[in-house]
Amino acid sequence: MLIVLNHKMNLKIEEITSYEKTLRDYNVVVMPQTPYMGLFTKGKYTLGSQCISEYNAPGGVSADALVGLNVKYVIVGHAERRLIRNECDDVIAKKINTIINNEMVPILCVGESLLEKQAGLTYRVIERQISEVFTKVNKDYHKILIAYEPVWSIGTSNPPTKEEIEEVLLFIKNYLKETYVVETDLLYGGSVSSDNMKELTEIENIKGVIVGSASLDIQEVINIYNIVNN
Ligand code: PEP
Repeated sequence: MLIVLNHKMNLKIEEITSYEKTLRDYNVVVMPQTPYMGLFTKGKYTLGSQCISEYNAPGGVSADALVGLNVKYVIVGHAERRLIRNECDDVIAKKINTIINNEMVPILCVGESLLEKQAGLTYRVIERQISEVFTKVNKDYHKILIAYEPVWSIGTSNPPTKEEIEEVLLFIKNYLKETYVVETDLLYGGSVSSDNMKELTEIENIKGVIVGSASLDIQEVINIYNIVNN
């Protein structure tokens, strides 16, 4: 099972250096803040990126730089970037094409807001988020990993039930199969911690997790890793 550690804009330089040393023994995917990525060169871990730029301008993150750092995975369409950075379907599709053209693996995040959930729109939202992007990407659908990240669960310590996650992953699996004749790995993200990790490993069709807040504590990372690998 893939364990993706998404630090977002957290950890200071003095924290990240000791974190990196401890993480060297663990086969996980780590996505530190972009300025720290060059510090992650020595471990069993794989490097991932929280972002890639769809433009060529100062301050951006290029595919060349990521490839040069041996980055394998890149997250696109994270709920907070959709909201705060206005990362729309066009931008997401452009990024996915760049990521695949550079032989990295895109992780497309999809998921409904609380209002959408309450209105019973979860499946419709996810279907739209996938189809709007898939119509704009080159046809390498099988190279795109999909992460179900319900917006209402991100950073809240309020994960969906095991059954809810299982149902949504099954919906995504069937939708991809029926509409695009493709099977791809599905991940879950949103309030993952060592408290719910065991349950998550029991979910059908789950191939990995994205860990946000809990990934900032290296002992939590080790606990999660041990639950997955024992
Ligand atoms: C995330 O931001 O991708 C995430 C999963 O966050 P958290 O684990 O804190 O809910």
